[in-house]
Amino acid sequence: TASRESSASQTPSLAIRHGAPLTAQPRLLGDLLDRSVQRFPGRPAVDFMGRITSWGALGADVERAAAALQALGVVKGTRVALCLPNTPYYPVFFFATLKAGGIVVNVNPLYVERELTHLIEDSGAKIIVTCDIAEIQARVLKVAGETGLRHVITCPIADVLPGLKRFGYKLVKRKEIGHAPASAQHLYYRAFMAKGGTSRAVAVDPHEVAVLQYTGGTTGVPKAAMLSHANIVANTDAMLVHCGGEVPEQDRVLGVLPLFHVFALTNVLTFSTLVAAEMILLPRFELKQLLATLKRTRPTYFPAVPTIYNALANLPAGERPDLSAIKVCISGGAPLPVEVRHAFEAHTGAKLVEGYGLSEASPIITCNPFVGVNKEGSAGLPFPGTTIEIRDREDPTRIMPAGEKGEICARGPQVMSGYWHKPAETQAAFADGSLRTGDVGYLDADGYLFIVDRIKDMILCGGYNVYPRVIEEALYEHPAVVEAVVIGVADPHRGQSPKAFVVVSDPAVTGAALRDFLRDKISKIELPREVEIRDTLPKTLIGKLSKKELVAEEEAKAAQH
Ligand code: AMP
Repeated sequence: TASRESSASQTPSLAIRHGAPLTAQPRLLGDLLDRSVQRFPGRPAVDFMGRITSWGALGADVERAAAALQALGVVKGTRVALCLPNTPYYPVFFFATLKAGGIVVNVNPLYVERELTHLIEDSGAKIIVTCDIAEIQARVLKVAGETGLRHVITCPIADVLPGLKRFGYKLVKRKEIGHAPASAQHLYYRAFMAKGGTSRAVAVDPHEVAVLQYTGGTTGVPKAAMLSHANIVANTDAMLVHCGGEVPEQDRVLGVLPLFHVFALTNVLTFSTLVAAEMILLPRFELKQLLATLKRTRPTYFPAVPTIYNALANLPAGERPDLSAIKVCISGGAPLPVEVRHAFEAHTGAKLVEGYGLSEASPIITCNPFVGVNKEGSAGLPFPGTTIEIRDREDPTRIMPAGEKGEICARGPQVMSGYWHKPAETQAAFADGSLRTGDVGYLDADGYLFIVDRIKDMILCGGYNVYPRVIEEALYEHPAVVEAVVIGVADPHRGQSPKAFVVVSDPAVTGAALRDFLRDKISKIELPREVEIRDTLPKTLIGKLSKKELVAEEEAKAAQH
């Protein structure tokens, strides 16, 4: 846009780039819902495996659930934990909690007991909403007995999932409801909703906390980013500006990513609600089901993580989906290897743009334009209303010029006010009021961001900084490489050295051959000591390739020697 270009030309040496202006006012998340309910009561809001809920019906369920939550004692600021896979229950409880004056605590339903206990205790949640998938409910009830939870609400999956058997879920029999601990009341959805009626209005300011979004699980104890209504609404408004301001309500947004994760929270749930587009929810990523859903619903927006696009790009020619209705696919959450983007675009004909964000920024801070230059290997331009600064890692008061690497920092209305009950961590998260992302990158002369790597994944090899991402990108250039991850392992001479783990499509390709392949692509210091072939690679619960399991394995191996 004109404003972006002019700000770029005025401050070329400072390497500060502003996104397009964002003029919409801070609002409550509930205002987005109310507007769509009023404008399009009869249009579809949620498609869940072919079962449709209209905006009108969603609005009525939210109202009833908000009143029922208030009947259970929810007042302003009460934390309500949502421990749900994608189902129509999630939007109901998300908006109902906010309408009742409460704060949503997003919980990954696959968290182990220890993580779940930590989240409940840290957030001080009094109510948890879950489902009757046996392993999830068992964990929730166990934790309920050991924490301060007062109410457990179970949403029966079978009531909303016609094709249940296809997902192979084992459900709890309703008779087993008696297993709830004495300290907590356990209600099934219908009994809970029967307590509802009309909710009492609660005065909430848009700058108050709406969601506690836990993050940092891969590095240590998860902490909660406090995201206000205004933060999330700003990122949602920015998405609409980024789309050119025009997303008709006929659009359909595919929600294969879990809504408890911040990427789908904004890109699927609140974005669909803002524009009254239909959200198509899938309970989890399963390739066959995804292909069937793409065929049945023909979505127009498809946000996902790179591993999902990679899986689609690797399908044999006869099985590739028809994505001709898609306007844009938005990759985020992890680096999108250049080769994956090429293969996906070539094999499906759909446009794939990369964006970048983090829980602390609700989440998007940069994205490639949907119309205009989609720069190879870049995470794009600052999102509307956002300023990106590259700061010196040693001296964060220093802002680096274009082309020079440093820590990526961001300012904007989507940035959290801090971590819940963690003043020291909050202080460390900001430099001069700008959010420190923990990622290394640089801006090019056009203001596009290039992410080099995460600071914590950097390998210190014989005094040099080696960035695993450079090696991973080079590995993806080999036609047989399906997935690749590089970590630092202990090295007696150099302190650390890189080691690669790779999944290949051709069993004849060896680790040694891949190592040879890399020789003229990367520097000697970056050449992995070993390339290990694996059948699969560990992934996080939302499908990002995960390094921590591999790091732990290598550390355990080293300790044995
Ligand atoms: P989360 O804990 O889910 O909030 O993850 C945020 C982190 O994911 C960021 O700090 C980055 O390290 C990483 N990330 C997200 N998007 C991208 C991207 N497009 N390229 C590289 N890394 C990314």
